[in-house]
Amino acid sequence: MTEQKMLKTPSGDIPCHLLDMDGVLVRGMTPIVGSAEYVQLLVDSSVPFMVFSNNSRFTPEVMADRLNSLGFAVDSSKVYTSALTTAEFINLQKPNATCFPIGEEGLKQALNDQDLQYDDVSPDYVVVGEAIDYSFQELTKGAQLVASGARFVGTNPDTSIPSESGAIPACGAACALIEATTGVAPYFIGKPNPFMMRAALAKLGKGPSHTIMVGDRIDTDIIAGMELGLQTVLVLTGASTESSLGKYPYRPDLVVPSLYHLSVHMGFNEDC
Ligand SMILES: [Mg+2]
Repeated sequence: MTEQKMLKTPSGDIPCHLLDMDGVLVRGMTPIVGSAEYVQLLVDSSVPFMVFSNNSRFTPEVMADRLNSLGFAVDSSKVYTSALTTAEFINLQKPNATCFPIGEEGLKQALNDQDLQYDDVSPDYVVVGEAIDYSFQELTKGAQLVASGARFVGTNPDTSIPSESGAIPACGAACALIEATTGVAPYFIGKPNPFMMRAALAKLGKGPSHTIMVGDRIDTDIIAGMELGLQTVLVLTGASTESSLGKYPYRPDLVVPSLYHLSVHMGFNEDC
């Protein structure tokens, strides 16, 4: 196991948390043992936190409802998806831009909330998000618009999502189809792009030295946190294993088997 460090702010407090969702809090629709209790400790200790997901299918309200139904004390203001950060990115780049979205309600509402208007004729951006049932007609339209000069953005680079029946093509795979058709590569905004973490830090109102990133993937969560200057925690309840640590030139500050072990490390059990 990697060297274990105490994770505190410069003033010795428990830091704010950026919590990855899949593989840290839940696996699909199943809560990971001890994770709801950990979120409750954050709430009871008034530690600011944000729950992250690269999944752009759902609105924060739907995600929060789903988490609530699984026992997590999380409201929609604490849920941050790649759809939200993509819409914020486009609005920063070009306020009032027009977009042709390929995705579901999570993406469409996020674009709408940033006053980015729908355009299927001559949009500024083609924006691809997650969808459970991509329309080949929409992907064709998106490719033709990119070929005509629309900027090409994807919410997240994940090429597949695990499911009970096997891997499902994800946003990165849909973007690959458009890239193969046009020769134009997408720009992805979700993890591991540190833009998503920086946007969340801005919402928390805290700097990197006061915040930790807790994730289950070395090649997305840990690299993004590390590049942004956050202390990072790898939990072994999801994608990455301890044996895979040696493959990467960077490593987390702390590795724990689960959030329960992190709660002991943080000293919550002494404070609460
Ligand atoms: Mg994850």
